[in-house]
Amino acid sequence: MAGRAVRDPDPRSGGDGTAGVLTIDLVALAANRRLLAERAPHATVAGVVKADGYGLGASPVAGTLFASGCRTFFVAHLAEALALLGGLPGADILVLNGLSPGAEARCADAGIQPVLNSLDQVARWSREARRRGKRLPAALQVDSGMARLGLSPSDVEAIGRDRGFLEGIDVRLVMSHLACADERNHPANAAQLGRFTELSAMLPDAPRSLANSAGIFLGEHYHFDLVRPGIALYGGKPFAGTGPNPMRAVARLQARVVQVRDVPSGTGIGYGHAAVASKAMRLATIGIGYADGWPRRLGGRIAAWAGDARLPIVGRVSMDSIVLDAGDAGLRPGDLVDLVGPRQGVDAVAAAADTIPYEILTSLGRRFERRYVNDGTGAAS
Ligand SMILES: *Cc1c(COP(=O)(O)O)cnc(C)c1O
Repeated sequence: MAGRAVRDPDPRSGGDGTAGVLTIDLVALAANRRLLAERAPHATVAGVVKADGYGLGASPVAGTLFASGCRTFFVAHLAEALALLGGLPGADILVLNGLSPGAEARCADAGIQPVLNSLDQVARWSREARRRGKRLPAALQVDSGMARLGLSPSDVEAIGRDRGFLEGIDVRLVMSHLACADERNHPANAAQLGRFTELSAMLPDAPRSLANSAGIFLGEHYHFDLVRPGIALYGGKPFAGTGPNPMRAVARLQARVVQVRDVPSGTGIGYGHAAVASKAMRLATIGIGYADGWPRRLGGRIAAWAGDARLPIVGRVSMDSIVLDAGDAGLRPGDLVDLVGPRQGVDAVAAAADTIPYEILTSLGRRFERRYVNDGTGAAS
């Protein structure tokens, strides 16, 4: 078949000694944010950029979201927030995992907002504010039924009875997180919605937030004042079950062909000879493996693609390489094949590996050349 588009268009590429090319489409990222804003027209759309922007680069991702109007960003850890400072002037940066003991001064100095998840965190933030003689901004998270992070109902009632707990704290957001939002009909969704509404009424009147990506697709009742998408921004399908993914793909992963060989029938292929050639075969070895975050369990389960040609993975995935059935795709060393791409999206890869797209994206290693596609506004480079 002609026009397989496997020749790397950048003639210098491959000379840099990387495992492959990870292309991150920042135009698609911005388009996904717009689509979510249309889905939640009465809410502010924040950006969740924890775990290095779901593996795609927190700084370029956050910069792109900022350029498209996003002013509220969530990360998991204070260190992630500190790394974003400077690139996002005037933005609110919130730390989902809250306030770890000893981090109070650094968090306050940097103007970063902890998501306060326990009475102990509330007390330490209040003490820091009183010590400084100024109010410090924060979000309060309540546990509406996930048992992971957040103030328990009895904590919330205690604060409801005695606002002294919050002395010095400028409550900018009251939030909670849904446990089962990707399952539209799961009864926990409505239960959490009810409990969140009840609990937040006992807290200071501040903007409220409940929905992650999947929560946005549960409908308007779940949107409140601010929504917190992560995976949908990055092109992952934001709900379980059938029906097409409304989001645009953001990540494309291409591996470089290292070697091509012809083997006779009966040849054992790769570790453990987990596959044996049942006929004469042409094999191509590509330079990506489980050390790059490509799941080892995908050996024998999925394929790479050269344009429209499907090239099954043969045998086990090694640390730094994978063997493909190259068929008659005409591969040569240096060619690029898609592991995540137009014919096989991140959702399909995740499904084949019995996991979720979050894990595929956030596991992507550091050995790729990263190419950022933008619209030329210089929002990221
Ligand atoms: C990670 C996270 C999000 C984003 O979730 P997605 O499912 O990726 O949209 C939102 N809120 C909280 C509290 C999170 O931990």
